[in-house]
Amino acid sequence: MPELILKPGKERSVMRRHPWIFEGAVAHLKGRARAGDTVDVLADNGRPLGRAAFSPQSQIRARLWSFDAEETIDHAFFKRRVAAAVAARAALPELREQQGLRLIHGESDGLPGVIADRYGDTVVLQLNSAGAEKWREAMVAALVQASGCARVFERSDSDVRGLEGLEPRTGALHGDEPGEVIIEEHGVRLAVDIRGGHKPGFDLDQRENRLLARRLAAGRSALNCFCYTGGFSLQALAGGAASVLSIDSSGPALEGARRNLALNPQLDAARAAWRDADVFEELRALKKAGARFDLIILDPPKFAPSAAHAERAARAYKDINLLGFRLLNPGGLLMSYSCSGGIGVELFQKILAGAASDAGVDARILRRLAAAPDHPVALAFPEGEYLKGLLCQVV
Ligand code: SAH
Repeated sequence: MPELILKPGKERSVMRRHPWIFEGAVAHLKGRARAGDTVDVLADNGRPLGRAAFSPQSQIRARLWSFDAEETIDHAFFKRRVAAAVAARAALPELREQQGLRLIHGESDGLPGVIADRYGDTVVLQLNSAGAEKWREAMVAALVQASGCARVFERSDSDVRGLEGLEPRTGALHGDEPGEVIIEEHGVRLAVDIRGGHKPGFDLDQRENRLLARRLAAGRSALNCFCYTGGFSLQALAGGAASVLSIDSSGPALEGARRNLALNPQLDAARAAWRDADVFEELRALKKAGARFDLIILDPPKFAPSAAHAERAARAYKDINLLGFRLLNPGGLLMSYSCSGGIGVELFQKILAGAASDAGVDARILRRLAAAPDHPVALAFPEGEYLKGLLCQVV
């Protein structure tokens, strides 16, 4: 087995069970290893620390599969890890019934670079690291066995693969090609386009937050920015919102939203309006037109994929939140999110404080919001906490 020897002191984060070894922490590689190969990780003093997947092109030079230096990384290993992840969800009553469910959440499930979501009978698999790529077949076999699903479809077409030197890859890995899958979330039907969707599915991490929006919506005029296929919008309608205006700049996303509304004849479609527009511009136009809302949801895409983009992203978050605060009626609610890894919880709160201050409003935090529990955050891996949100009320 090739050996990855760390620089003095660099064993500390590994001993705290953090799974990433950055390029700068490596003293040298003893032996030969190609992308995805398993290497032994050793401290400077020769102490074995665990086994990792080697990734020569990435700044994250290795990701630990196991902190047990004796554990064999083979098909049986992935079978155990995948089964444990699936069983952890099944052990939570609130997750057991979900038709759309994240089964594997990467590092926090002990499977760095591996994301697997279940939609009904289909698993969507994303392999985002050289190590995950190497064990594709093992992952598929383990997922089929643990989930009982008929299909596994790969959507490894996210940008992060480039950082690992991997090409995008999509296609059926097990069973036939999935068609449109319809899932039910809190009684609302949602179509998920697994094969062609501009995202590999649906933002399952916001499941509980959509339920919260539904509970808050009764009698309120709502504005849902970055609505994608209307997840928050439909829950707000289900909760009895007086009106819901939804904005997105993607035509296909809005088409999906209209289709989702049509799948739910129990909802009052007359209360829903969809607008194909840039949120930054449209919020200004709404302000100019004198519009006001009682509930505003801001769930933008990742403005800061990493800390390096944090400053520019912070300005964008401030801009939309400032405009959001200005568009609220007295007593109105702002539900605001960031899914940027590069923006921490504290910074996000500071940005909102600045936005409220510049908007000239007094606002309070009613709730701190996070991803649903099928997107756990390993305590040893705080980077896993990408989604953060605040529910604020203006005075
Ligand atoms: N809230 C959604 C997920 C949002 S995903 C849910 O619960 O399902 C982010 C969405 O923002 C995408 O649909 C994308 O098309 C849209 N988007 C990105 N930049 C935008 C912009 N400047 N103006 C409007 N929409 C934008």
